[in-house]
Amino acid sequence: MPPARRIRQAVIGRLYEFTRHALEEMDDDGLSETDVRFALLRGEVVASLGDDRVHCRVTMKPDFCEYCNGALQTGERLVTVHRHVGDRHFIFERVPARVCPRCGERYFSAAIVRKMDREMKHRRRTSLRPVPIISLSPEG
Ligand SMILES: [Zn+2]
Repeated sequence: MPPARRIRQAVIGRLYEFTRHALEEMDDDGLSETDVRFALLRGEVVASLGDDRVHCRVTMKPDFCEYCNGALQTGERLVTVHRHVGDRHFIFERVPARVCPRCGERYFSAAIVRKMDREMKHRRRTSLRPVPIISLSPEG
């Protein structure tokens, strides 16, 4: 099956996960799980990163860590996740994730990412806490 079709099948079946790194990139660009899903289903390839091969980094529920190749367990742990929309910051507690035992990278299901996106949009059940903002400017 060609990579583009394989990716679309995975998206339709929600058989994919987001790394913590992917979430950070999405937040920086203001993209939601829905945006990514839409792009993967409707988008077209405008640039290829390789010479002749399509570099496909979309893996469906990977068995090995994208970053260190450590073996991933199927079981999930509850972790704390920091996300932001523009300059509004959110801390999610007790988020289920698969965690790489070697490098600590976290893998979140599409459903969980979508749930966090919704909470950030509607801000239900939030408790507010002051956060110190510290600027490390070089000494003059
Ligand atoms: Zn790893």
